[in-house]
Amino acid sequence: MSSTASATGSTSTPRHAEVAGAGFAGLTAAIALARSGWSVRVHEQNDTLRDFGAGILLWRNAMLALEVIGVAPRIKAEGVVPDAYATSLNGEMFTPELAGYPYWAITRPRLHAILVDAARDAGVDLVTGSKAVAAEPSGVLVLEDGSRLQADLVLACDGAGSAVRNSRPELVQERKKYQDGVCRVLVRRPEEFQGEEWDRVIDYWTLEPDAMRILFITTGPDTIYMGMMATTDNERASQIPIDPEVWSARFPHLAPVIELAAEATGGRHDPYQTNRVEPWSAGRVVLVGDSAHAMCPALGQGASVGMVNAVELAHVLSEHDDLGTALAVWEDRQRAMTDAAQARSAYMAETRTLARGNGFTPEVMETANFELAAATPEHLALYPVPLATEPASS
Ligand SMILES: Cc1cc2nc3c(=O)[nH]c(=O)nc-3n(C[C@H](O)[C@H](O)[C@H](O)COP(=O)(O)OP(=O)(O)OC[C@H]3O[C@@H](n4cnc5c(N)ncnc54)[C@H](O)[C@@H]3O)c2cc1C
Repeated sequence: MSSTASATGSTSTPRHAEVAGAGFAGLTAAIALARSGWSVRVHEQNDTLRDFGAGILLWRNAMLALEVIGVAPRIKAEGVVPDAYATSLNGEMFTPELAGYPYWAITRPRLHAILVDAARDAGVDLVTGSKAVAAEPSGVLVLEDGSRLQADLVLACDGAGSAVRNSRPELVQERKKYQDGVCRVLVRRPEEFQGEEWDRVIDYWTLEPDAMRILFITTGPDTIYMGMMATTDNERASQIPIDPEVWSARFPHLAPVIELAAEATGGRHDPYQTNRVEPWSAGRVVLVGDSAHAMCPALGQGASVGMVNAVELAHVLSEHDDLGTALAVWEDRQRAMTDAAQARSAYMAETRTLARGNGFTPEVMETANFELAAATPEHLALYPVPLATEPASS
Protein backbone atom coordinates (compact mmCIF):
# COMPACT_ATOMS: atom_id res chain seq x y z
CA MET A 1 0.00 0.00 0.00
CA SER A 2 1.08 3.59 -0.55
CA SER A 3 2.14 5.96 2.20
CA THR A 4 0.71 9.19 0.84
CA ALA A 5 0.52 12.19 3.15
CA SER A 6 -2.96 13.57 2.77
CA ALA A 7 -3.35 15.74 5.86
CA THR A 8 -3.88 19.40 5.06
CA GLY A 9 -5.41 20.99 8.12
CA SER A 10 -7.26 23.24 5.68
CA THR A 11 -11.02 23.73 5.90
CA SER A 12 -11.44 23.67 2.11
CA THR A 13 -10.17 20.11 1.61
CA PRO A 14 -11.44 17.23 3.71
CA ARG A 15 -9.66 16.45 6.93
CA HIS A 16 -8.03 13.03 6.84
CA ALA A 17 -8.12 10.18 9.38
CA GLU A 18 -6.01 7.03 9.52
CA VAL A 19 -7.72 4.33 11.60
CA ALA A 20 -5.95 1.26 13.03
CA GLY A 21 -8.39 -1.67 13.37
CA ALA A 22 -11.58 -2.64 11.53
CA GLY A 23 -13.53 -3.89 14.55
CA PHE A 24 -16.88 -2.46 15.64
CA ALA A 25 -15.28 0.71 17.06
CA GLY A 26 -12.99 1.39 14.09
CA LEU A 27 -15.69 0.83 11.48
CA THR A 28 -18.24 2.93 13.38
CA ALA A 29 -15.79 5.80 13.81
CA ALA A 30 -14.77 5.57 10.15
CA ILE A 31 -18.39 5.70 8.94
CA ALA A 32 -19.25 8.61 11.25
CA LEU A 33 -16.21 10.64 10.16
CA ALA A 34 -16.71 9.89 6.46
CA ARG A 35 -20.37 10.91 6.69
CA SER A 36 -19.30 14.24 8.18
CA GLY A 37 -16.91 14.96 5.32
CA TRP A 38 -13.59 13.41 6.36
CA SER A 39 -11.50 11.23 4.10
CA VAL A 40 -10.87 8.02 6.04
CA ARG A 41 -8.60 5.01 5.63
CA VAL A 42 -8.90 1.96 7.89
CA HIS A 43 -6.08 -0.55 8.38
CA GLU A 44 -7.01 -4.09 9.39
CA GLN A 45 -4.18 -6.48 10.29
CA ASN A 46 -6.11 -9.55 9.12
CA ASP A 47 -6.35 -10.51 5.47
CA THR A 48 -10.15 -10.51 5.57
CA LEU A 49 -12.77 -8.22 7.07
CA ARG A 50 -14.84 -10.31 9.46
CA ASP A 51 -15.67 -11.01 13.08
CA PHE A 52 -15.70 -14.38 14.85
CA GLY A 53 -18.65 -16.74 15.39
CA ALA A 54 -20.68 -15.44 18.31
CA GLY A 55 -23.59 -13.11 18.94
CA ILE A 56 -23.91 -9.68 20.46
CA LEU A 57 -26.53 -7.61 22.25
CA LEU A 58 -26.91 -4.07 20.99
CA TRP A 59 -28.46 -1.92 23.67
CA ARG A 60 -30.44 1.29 23.17
CA ASN A 61 -27.26 3.39 23.35
CA ALA A 62 -25.68 1.38 20.52
CA MET A 63 -28.86 1.54 18.43
CA LEU A 64 -28.92 5.32 18.77
CA ALA A 65 -25.29 5.47 17.59
CA LEU A 66 -26.10 3.15 14.68
CA GLU A 67 -29.16 5.27 13.89
CA VAL A 68 -26.95 8.38 13.62
CA ILE A 69 -24.71 6.63 11.05
CA GLY A 70 -27.66 5.18 9.12
CA VAL A 71 -26.99 1.52 9.98
CA ALA A 72 -29.81 0.80 12.47
CA PRO A 73 -32.49 -0.10 9.88
CA ARG A 74 -30.39 -3.06 8.69
CA ILE A 75 -29.79 -4.21 12.27
CA LYS A 76 -33.53 -4.16 12.83
CA ALA A 77 -34.14 -6.09 9.62
CA GLU A 78 -31.45 -8.73 10.22
CA GLY A 79 -31.38 -8.99 14.03
CA VAL A 80 -34.06 -9.89 16.57
CA VAL A 81 -35.55 -8.18 19.62
CA PRO A 82 -35.51 -10.58 22.59
CA ASP A 83 -38.98 -10.43 24.13
CA ALA A 84 -37.52 -10.37 27.68
CA TYR A 85 -34.47 -11.24 29.75
CA ALA A 86 -35.09 -14.23 31.99
CA THR A 87 -32.74 -15.46 34.72
CA SER A 88 -32.58 -18.93 36.22
CA LEU A 89 -30.50 -19.89 39.26
CA ASN A 90 -30.24 -23.63 40.04
CA GLY A 91 -33.41 -24.16 37.99
CA GLU A 92 -35.46 -21.46 39.76
CA MET A 93 -36.73 -18.97 37.20
CA PHE A 94 -37.00 -15.33 38.31
CA THR A 95 -39.52 -12.87 36.91
CA PRO A 96 -38.39 -11.88 33.40
CA GLU A 97 -37.11 -8.33 32.95
CA LEU A 98 -36.70 -5.81 30.13
CA ALA A 99 -39.96 -6.67 28.33
CA GLY A 100 -40.46 -4.02 25.64
CA TYR A 101 -36.93 -2.67 26.04
CA PRO A 102 -35.44 -1.55 22.69
CA TYR A 103 -32.40 -3.84 22.33
CA TRP A 104 -31.38 -6.20 19.54
CA ALA A 105 -29.53 -9.52 19.29
CA ILE A 106 -27.54 -10.24 16.14
CA THR A 107 -24.58 -12.41 15.17
CA ARG A 108 -21.21 -10.70 15.24
CA PRO A 109 -20.33 -11.68 11.63
CA ARG A 110 -23.64 -10.10 10.48
CA LEU A 111 -23.10 -6.87 12.44
CA HIS A 112 -19.56 -6.67 11.10
CA ALA A 113 -20.68 -7.22 7.48
CA ILE A 114 -23.34 -4.50 7.86
CA LEU A 115 -20.73 -2.05 9.13
CA VAL A 116 -18.29 -2.95 6.33
CA ASP A 117 -21.02 -2.31 3.74
CA ALA A 118 -21.86 1.04 5.34
CA ALA A 119 -18.17 2.01 5.47
CA ARG A 120 -17.78 1.25 1.76
CA ASP A 121 -20.97 3.22 0.98
CA ALA A 122 -19.58 6.19 2.92
CA GLY A 123 -16.37 6.11 0.85
CA VAL A 124 -14.05 4.71 3.53
CA ASP A 125 -10.87 3.13 2.17
CA LEU A 126 -10.55 -0.31 3.83
CA VAL A 127 -7.07 -1.85 3.66
CA THR A 128 -6.54 -5.46 4.80
CA GLY A 129 -3.25 -7.13 5.74
CA SER A 130 -2.12 -3.76 7.09
CA LYS A 131 -0.75 -3.85 10.63
CA ALA A 132 -0.23 -0.69 12.65
CA VAL A 133 2.65 -0.68 15.11
CA ALA A 134 2.77 2.86 16.49
CA ALA A 135 1.54 6.43 16.25
CA GLU A 136 3.04 9.84 16.85
CA PRO A 137 1.24 12.85 18.38
CA SER A 138 2.00 14.91 15.26
CA GLY A 139 -0.55 12.70 13.47
CA VAL A 140 1.56 9.87 12.05
CA LEU A 141 0.43 6.25 11.92
CA VAL A 142 3.33 3.84 11.55
CA LEU A 143 2.74 0.50 9.86
CA GLU A 144 4.66 -2.75 10.23
CA ASP A 145 6.08 -2.35 6.69
CA GLY A 146 7.66 0.95 7.76
CA SER A 147 5.12 3.26 6.07
CA ARG A 148 4.50 6.53 7.92
CA LEU A 149 1.04 7.90 7.17
CA GLN A 150 0.30 11.53 8.01
CA ALA A 151 -3.20 12.46 9.07
CA ASP A 152 -5.20 15.15 10.85
CA LEU A 153 -6.27 12.43 13.26
CA VAL A 154 -5.02 8.91 13.99
CA LEU A 155 -7.56 6.62 15.62
CA ALA A 156 -6.29 3.62 17.58
CA CYS A 157 -9.19 1.17 17.35
CA ASP A 158 -6.98 -1.91 17.55
CA GLY A 159 -8.65 -3.53 20.54
CA ALA A 160 -7.77 -4.24 24.17
CA GLY A 161 -4.15 -5.17 23.36
CA SER A 162 -3.69 -2.02 21.20
CA ALA A 163 -0.16 -1.77 19.79
CA VAL A 164 -0.82 1.85 18.84
CA ARG A 165 -1.81 2.78 22.42
CA ASN A 166 1.15 0.87 23.81
CA SER A 167 3.50 2.94 21.63
CA ARG A 168 2.46 6.13 23.48
CA PRO A 169 3.83 6.40 27.03
CA GLU A 170 1.54 9.42 27.73
CA LEU A 171 -1.50 7.10 27.47
CA VAL A 172 -1.31 5.42 30.85
CA GLN A 173 -3.06 2.09 31.17
CA GLU A 174 -4.37 0.33 34.25
CA ARG A 175 -5.16 -3.30 33.43
CA LYS A 176 -7.01 -5.80 35.58
CA LYS A 177 -7.95 -9.45 35.07
CA TYR A 178 -10.89 -11.11 36.81
CA GLN A 179 -11.80 -14.60 38.03
CA ASP A 180 -14.11 -15.58 35.15
CA GLY A 181 -13.92 -16.10 31.43
CA VAL A 182 -16.40 -16.90 28.67
CA CYS A 183 -16.52 -19.35 25.76
CA ARG A 184 -18.63 -17.91 22.97
CA VAL A 185 -20.12 -19.99 20.15
CA LEU A 186 -22.84 -19.79 17.53
CA VAL A 187 -25.01 -22.89 17.33
CA ARG A 188 -27.51 -24.11 14.75
CA ARG A 189 -30.96 -23.73 16.33
CA PRO A 190 -32.52 -27.19 16.71
CA GLU A 191 -36.26 -28.02 16.55
CA GLU A 192 -36.63 -28.41 20.34
CA PHE A 193 -35.40 -24.83 20.88
CA GLN A 194 -37.84 -23.26 18.40
CA GLY A 195 -40.94 -21.48 19.68
CA GLU A 196 -41.76 -18.28 21.51
CA GLU A 197 -40.55 -19.44 24.92
CA TRP A 198 -37.00 -19.47 23.49
CA ASP A 199 -37.20 -16.08 21.72
CA ARG A 200 -35.66 -14.32 24.68
CA VAL A 201 -32.41 -14.00 26.52
CA ILE A 202 -32.19 -16.77 29.13
CA ASP A 203 -29.40 -16.46 31.66
CA TYR A 204 -28.84 -19.86 33.33
CA TRP A 205 -26.65 -19.91 36.44
CA THR A 206 -25.34 -22.45 38.92
CA LEU A 207 -22.97 -21.22 41.63
CA GLU A 208 -22.00 -24.48 43.39
CA PRO A 209 -19.40 -25.93 43.60
CA ASP A 210 -18.14 -23.12 41.37
CA ALA A 211 -19.86 -20.57 39.13
CA MET A 212 -20.98 -21.71 35.69
CA ARG A 213 -23.39 -19.82 33.50
CA ILE A 214 -24.93 -20.25 30.07
CA LEU A 215 -26.29 -17.12 28.46
CA PHE A 216 -28.69 -18.39 25.82
CA ILE A 217 -29.65 -15.83 23.17
CA THR A 218 -31.53 -16.57 19.98
CA THR A 219 -30.18 -14.54 17.09
CA GLY A 220 -32.93 -15.58 14.68
CA PRO A 221 -34.78 -18.72 13.56
CA ASP A 222 -31.55 -20.46 12.53
CA THR A 223 -28.99 -19.64 15.20
CA ILE A 224 -28.44 -19.50 18.96
CA TYR A 225 -25.61 -17.56 20.56
CA MET A 226 -24.25 -19.22 23.69
CA GLY A 227 -21.98 -17.38 26.14
CA MET A 228 -20.64 -20.03 28.52
CA MET A 229 -19.00 -18.52 31.60
CA ALA A 230 -16.82 -20.31 34.15
CA THR A 231 -13.94 -19.47 36.45
CA THR A 232 -10.70 -19.53 34.45
CA ASP A 233 -9.23 -22.11 36.83
CA ASN A 234 -11.98 -24.52 35.73
CA GLU A 235 -9.92 -25.58 32.74
CA ARG A 236 -12.41 -28.05 31.25
CA ALA A 237 -15.11 -25.36 31.17
CA SER A 238 -12.74 -22.73 29.77
CA GLN A 239 -11.85 -24.36 26.50
CA ILE A 240 -12.85 -24.29 22.85
CA PRO A 241 -14.09 -26.67 21.52
CA ILE A 242 -16.68 -26.87 24.31
CA ASP A 243 -16.40 -29.93 26.56
CA PRO A 244 -20.02 -31.19 26.46
CA GLU A 245 -19.65 -33.47 29.48
CA VAL A 246 -18.68 -30.77 31.96
CA TRP A 247 -21.41 -28.40 30.75
CA SER A 248 -24.22 -30.97 30.45
CA ALA A 249 -23.52 -32.19 33.99
CA ARG A 250 -24.47 -28.71 35.26
CA PHE A 251 -27.20 -27.88 32.75
CA PRO A 252 -28.76 -31.27 31.81
CA HIS A 253 -31.91 -29.70 30.31
CA LEU A 254 -29.68 -27.89 27.76
CA ALA A 255 -27.80 -31.06 26.76
CA PRO A 256 -29.00 -31.09 23.11
CA VAL A 257 -27.85 -27.54 22.49
CA ILE A 258 -24.61 -28.11 24.45
CA GLU A 259 -23.85 -31.05 22.09
CA LEU A 260 -24.26 -28.64 19.18
CA ALA A 261 -22.06 -26.07 20.94
CA ALA A 262 -19.34 -28.73 21.19
CA GLU A 263 -19.44 -29.15 17.40
CA ALA A 264 -19.39 -25.41 16.68
CA THR A 265 -16.44 -23.95 14.83
CA GLY A 266 -15.17 -20.35 14.96
CA GLY A 267 -15.90 -19.75 18.66
CA ARG A 268 -13.57 -18.19 21.18
CA HIS A 269 -12.65 -18.10 24.88
CA ASP A 270 -11.80 -14.79 26.57
CA PRO A 271 -10.93 -14.05 30.19
CA TYR A 272 -12.71 -11.09 31.81
CA GLN A 273 -10.50 -8.00 31.84
CA THR A 274 -10.61 -4.24 32.01
CA ASN A 275 -8.16 -1.64 30.82
CA ARG A 276 -8.70 1.91 31.93
CA VAL A 277 -6.58 4.44 30.07
CA GLU A 278 -6.01 8.07 30.90
CA PRO A 279 -6.02 10.29 28.92
CA TRP A 280 -7.67 8.99 25.74
CA SER A 281 -5.60 11.11 23.38
CA ALA A 282 -2.08 12.38 22.80
CA GLY A 283 -1.88 15.20 20.28
CA ARG A 284 -3.48 13.92 17.07
CA VAL A 285 -3.73 10.31 18.31
CA VAL A 286 -6.97 9.15 19.93
CA LEU A 287 -8.14 5.82 21.38
CA VAL A 288 -11.63 4.57 20.57
CA GLY A 289 -13.23 1.28 21.72
CA ASP A 290 -11.54 -1.48 23.70
CA SER A 291 -8.12 0.17 23.23
CA ALA A 292 -9.44 2.84 25.63
CA HIS A 293 -11.90 1.00 27.84
CA ALA A 294 -12.20 -2.79 27.55
CA MET A 295 -14.69 -3.88 30.19
CA CYS A 296 -15.96 -7.07 31.81
CA PRO A 297 -18.85 -8.37 29.71
CA ALA A 298 -21.23 -8.65 32.69
CA LEU A 299 -23.51 -6.01 31.15
CA GLY A 300 -22.69 -6.71 27.47
CA GLN A 301 -21.84 -3.03 26.98
CA GLY A 302 -18.24 -2.98 25.65
CA ALA A 303 -18.97 -2.64 21.95
CA SER A 304 -22.03 -0.49 22.57
CA VAL A 305 -20.01 2.07 24.56
CA GLY A 306 -17.24 1.96 21.93
CA MET A 307 -19.72 2.70 19.14
CA VAL A 308 -21.33 5.50 21.15
CA ASN A 309 -17.94 7.11 21.79
CA ALA A 310 -16.99 6.74 18.10
CA VAL A 311 -20.13 8.53 16.91
CA GLU A 312 -19.84 11.21 19.58
CA LEU A 313 -16.22 11.83 18.55
CA ALA A 314 -17.22 12.58 14.96
CA HIS A 315 -20.03 14.80 16.24
CA VAL A 316 -17.75 16.85 18.50
CA LEU A 317 -15.18 17.17 15.70
CA SER A 318 -17.91 18.69 13.52
CA GLU A 319 -18.68 21.24 16.26
CA HIS A 320 -15.09 22.42 16.92
CA ASP A 321 -12.50 23.36 14.28
CA ASP A 322 -9.67 23.13 16.79
CA LEU A 323 -8.71 19.47 17.21
CA GLY A 324 -7.32 19.83 20.72
CA THR A 325 -10.51 21.51 21.90
CA ALA A 326 -12.67 18.85 20.24
CA LEU A 327 -10.76 15.97 21.85
CA ALA A 328 -10.91 17.60 25.28
CA VAL A 329 -14.66 18.28 24.99
CA TRP A 330 -15.27 14.72 23.77
CA GLU A 331 -13.35 13.04 26.58
CA ASP A 332 -14.99 15.31 29.12
CA ARG A 333 -18.46 14.36 27.83
CA GLN A 334 -17.90 10.61 27.47
CA ARG A 335 -15.56 9.82 30.34
CA ALA A 336 -18.03 9.66 33.24
CA MET A 337 -20.46 7.38 31.39
CA THR A 338 -17.63 5.11 30.23
CA ASP A 339 -15.92 4.89 33.63
CA ALA A 340 -19.26 4.12 35.29
CA ALA A 341 -20.01 1.36 32.78
CA GLN A 342 -16.59 -0.18 33.36
CA ALA A 343 -16.83 0.02 37.13
CA ARG A 344 -20.38 -1.33 37.22
CA SER A 345 -19.52 -4.21 34.87
CA ALA A 346 -16.50 -5.10 37.01
CA TYR A 347 -18.58 -5.01 40.20
CA MET A 348 -21.25 -7.22 38.65
CA ALA A 349 -18.63 -9.64 37.37
CA GLU A 350 -16.95 -9.88 40.76
CA THR A 351 -20.16 -10.26 42.75
CA ARG A 352 -22.11 -12.17 40.07
CA THR A 353 -25.11 -10.04 40.99
CA LEU A 354 -27.08 -10.97 37.87
CA ALA A 355 -27.39 -14.58 39.09
CA ARG A 356 -30.00 -13.46 41.61
CA GLY A 357 -32.35 -12.04 38.94
CA ASN A 358 -33.96 -8.61 38.85
CA GLY A 359 -30.53 -7.12 38.13
CA PHE A 360 -31.52 -4.51 35.56
CA THR A 361 -32.27 -1.72 37.99
CA PRO A 362 -32.57 1.87 36.69
CA GLU A 363 -28.98 2.46 37.91
CA VAL A 364 -27.65 -0.56 35.98
CA MET A 365 -29.55 0.60 32.89
CA GLU A 366 -27.92 4.05 32.95
CA THR A 367 -25.34 3.10 30.31
CA ALA A 368 -27.89 1.48 28.00
CA ASN A 369 -30.09 4.55 28.37
CA PHE A 370 -27.29 7.04 27.67
CA GLU A 371 -28.49 9.61 25.15
CA LEU A 372 -25.96 10.74 22.57
CA ALA A 373 -25.49 14.42 21.81
CA ALA A 374 -25.38 13.35 18.15
CA ALA A 375 -28.84 11.77 18.31
CA THR A 376 -31.75 13.89 17.11
CA PRO A 377 -35.17 14.02 18.81
CA GLU A 378 -36.41 11.85 15.91
CA HIS A 379 -33.80 9.20 16.73
CA LEU A 380 -34.70 9.27 20.42
CA ALA A 381 -38.39 8.93 19.61
CA LEU A 382 -37.64 5.62 17.86
CA TYR A 383 -36.29 4.13 21.12
CA PRO A 384 -38.68 4.95 23.96
CA VAL A 385 -37.62 3.44 27.29
CA PRO A 386 -40.51 1.47 28.76
CA LEU A 387 -41.17 1.71 32.47
CA ALA A 388 -40.55 -2.04 32.39
CA THR A 389 -36.83 -1.63 33.01
CA GLU A 390 -38.29 -2.54 36.39
CA PRO A 391 -39.04 -6.32 36.52
CA ALA A 392 -41.82 -7.18 34.07
CA SER A 393 -44.76 -9.33 35.10
CA SER A 394 -44.30 -12.83 33.70
C1 LIG B 1 -17.79 -12.57 26.45
C2 LIG B 1 -18.02 -11.21 25.88
C3 LIG B 1 -19.30 -10.83 25.53
C4 LIG B 1 -19.54 -9.54 25.04
N1 LIG B 1 -20.80 -9.18 24.72
C5 LIG B 1 -21.07 -7.93 24.31
C6 LIG B 1 -22.40 -7.52 24.01
O1 LIG B 1 -23.34 -8.32 24.07
N2 LIG B 1 -22.62 -6.22 23.67
C7 LIG B 1 -21.61 -5.31 23.59
O2 LIG B 1 -21.86 -4.14 23.29
N3 LIG B 1 -20.31 -5.69 23.83
C8 LIG B 1 -20.02 -6.96 24.18
N4 LIG B 1 -18.74 -7.35 24.42
C9 LIG B 1 -17.64 -6.40 24.22
C10 LIG B 1 -17.21 -6.32 22.76
O3 LIG B 1 -16.96 -7.61 22.23
C11 LIG B 1 -15.97 -5.47 22.60
O4 LIG B 1 -16.08 -4.32 23.40
C12 LIG B 1 -15.79 -5.04 21.15
O5 LIG B 1 -15.63 -6.15 20.30
C13 LIG B 1 -14.58 -4.12 21.02
O6 LIG B 1 -14.53 -3.64 19.71
P1 LIG B 1 -13.21 -2.90 19.19
O7 LIG B 1 -13.49 -2.56 17.78
O8 LIG B 1 -12.84 -1.80 20.13
O9 LIG B 1 -12.05 -3.97 19.32
P2 LIG B 1 -11.90 -5.39 18.64
O10 LIG B 1 -13.20 -6.09 18.51
O11 LIG B 1 -10.81 -6.09 19.40
O12 LIG B 1 -11.40 -5.06 17.16
C14 LIG B 1 -10.09 -4.62 16.91
C15 LIG B 1 -9.79 -4.81 15.44
O13 LIG B 1 -8.48 -4.28 15.18
C16 LIG B 1 -7.69 -5.26 14.54
N5 LIG B 1 -6.31 -5.02 14.97
C17 LIG B 1 -5.75 -5.37 16.16
N6 LIG B 1 -4.48 -4.94 16.22
C18 LIG B 1 -4.23 -4.31 15.05
C19 LIG B 1 -3.09 -3.65 14.51
N7 LIG B 1 -1.96 -3.55 15.23
N8 LIG B 1 -3.18 -3.10 13.27
C20 LIG B 1 -4.33 -3.19 12.53
N9 LIG B 1 -5.44 -3.84 13.00
C21 LIG B 1 -5.38 -4.37 14.24
C22 LIG B 1 -8.26 -6.60 14.97
O14 LIG B 1 -7.93 -7.63 14.08
C23 LIG B 1 -9.75 -6.26 15.00
O15 LIG B 1 -10.32 -6.38 13.73
C24 LIG B 1 -18.47 -8.63 24.89
C25 LIG B 1 -17.16 -9.03 25.22
C26 LIG B 1 -16.92 -10.31 25.70
C27 LIG B 1 -15.52 -10.71 26.06
